[in-house]
Amino acid sequence: MSADQDAGRRPSDLGGLLEAAPDAMVVIDSRGIIQLVNAQTERVFGYSRGELLGQPVEVLVPASLHELHRKHRSEYLHEPHVRSMGSGLDLRARRRDGSEFPVEISLAPLETDQGLLISAAVRDVTAKRREERLFRGLLEAAPDAMVIVDNTGTIVLVNAQVEEKFGYNRGELVGQSVEILVPERFAGMHVAFRSGYVAGPRTRPMGLAGDLFARRKDGSEFPVEISLAPLETEEGLLVSAAVRDISERRRMQEETDRVKDEFFATVSHELRTPLTSMLGYSELLADLEPLSPQGRRFLSVIARSAERELRLVDDLLTLVAIEESGLAIRPELLDLEPVVRDAVDAARPRAEEVDIELSMEVPGFPVPVDADRDRLGQAIDNLMSNALKFTPAGGHVHVSLRLADTFAEIEVADSGIGIGEQDPNRIFERLYRSGTAIAQQVPGAGLGLTITLAILEAHRGMISVVKSDEAGTTFRMSLPLVG
Ligand code: ADP
Repeated sequence: MSADQDAGRRPSDLGGLLEAAPDAMVVIDSRGIIQLVNAQTERVFGYSRGELLGQPVEVLVPASLHELHRKHRSEYLHEPHVRSMGSGLDLRARRRDGSEFPVEISLAPLETDQGLLISAAVRDVTAKRREERLFRGLLEAAPDAMVIVDNTGTIVLVNAQVEEKFGYNRGELVGQSVEILVPERFAGMHVAFRSGYVAGPRTRPMGLAGDLFARRKDGSEFPVEISLAPLETEEGLLVSAAVRDISERRRMQEETDRVKDEFFATVSHELRTPLTSMLGYSELLADLEPLSPQGRRFLSVIARSAERELRLVDDLLTLVAIEESGLAIRPELLDLEPVVRDAVDAARPRAEEVDIELSMEVPGFPVPVDADRDRLGQAIDNLMSNALKFTPAGGHVHVSLRLADTFAEIEVADSGIGIGEQDPNRIFERLYRSGTAIAQQVPGAGLGLTITLAILEAHRGMISVVKSDEAGTTFRMSLPLVG
């Protein structure tokens, strides 16, 4: 309501309006004498209307503030306009029983036929202040450095952890742009990111590309993790950023990685060295005459066992590497045909030994792929060694290479016992071995197919069981063709 509209109005006319107001309304004249109050005033302050009318307004003000209040009152009379009283100040009011409570007060001048009156809308903000205290308490209790900014990126509030972590005191931060806490090289990106966030705010980790860093007052940086949450307030949207220093976690991770790398390097070396020497010496021994046929047989058992153990060690180490950081491959442009041929040739002695017929079918032209020769060879070896393991004597294993659309397909088909499982895909799980494999005591650790799958995935290829029954099993690997 403006002063013009009320010009000439009689104070008693205002009664109805005052009663409709949600706040305690107190109307005083230019001497500070209470002229009108509404029912809310009686309720909030504990006075009856009769006790207030004609009294100086200071009865509603704590004694310690009387003098200040009178001064402000006379200043207001010189320049009366609608405004809130002492914005930013902690205003307090006094009840009849002498108790005090926090208030917010809006003032408005009223021109009446009895001269200038001033209406004060008094709102009890006890609950609001309690909530604010609670909020601040929570903010200070948070384990992270909490920075609260408004929608223009200006810092509104910080907690003690911010002071400690960033080396600023609160006074230096509040009112500053939040980019003061961001390394300069990220500042531009941060501004863009911030505007984007304000447009669609929700609780989530801050996801700028790459690792996040924060900047201390002295310019030094530290790695952080940041979670953002929007806070709807009367003053508009605020954004709270919980900033966690992850230097220590990083350091521990690096230390763990280093110890792990060292451990695997040592284990791998310690396990492999004796096996390699066993293999070497059994070869030398086999060349020495005289050696009985039985001795020769024993020697070949030793050599085979050492080879198997060496493969197992390699598989275990490969698996650890895969789980750590995925399988690293060194792809090059190559023709698949010789890779398949080499794998089949390498399996021949073993096939003869276990009396299995080995056949191969390849196209008469190059099959170009972008692949890691050794790893791909290892994948084919794995399938062939399984085929030979799970096929009884007298059976056959057939390896074929062909083109299918934009893929090269390698199939390994055997006439063996079949997988015999409800879910054939389980055989690609780490350490998984089928019931039949265990029952028939076929040697193996359940690692081969896991590694084979990882090799194919690293090449953006696929592996699947295309057939498996009592008549045998067929595995198919597909690799994208080049060109
Ligand atoms: P391993 O052969 O060391 O047991 P793999 O990961 O290579 O481990 O294979 C997992 C399981 O898949 C085998 O134990 C076996 O049960 C089944 N499997 C793999 N290849 C064949 C096959 N050609 N015929 C029948 N079962 C197979």
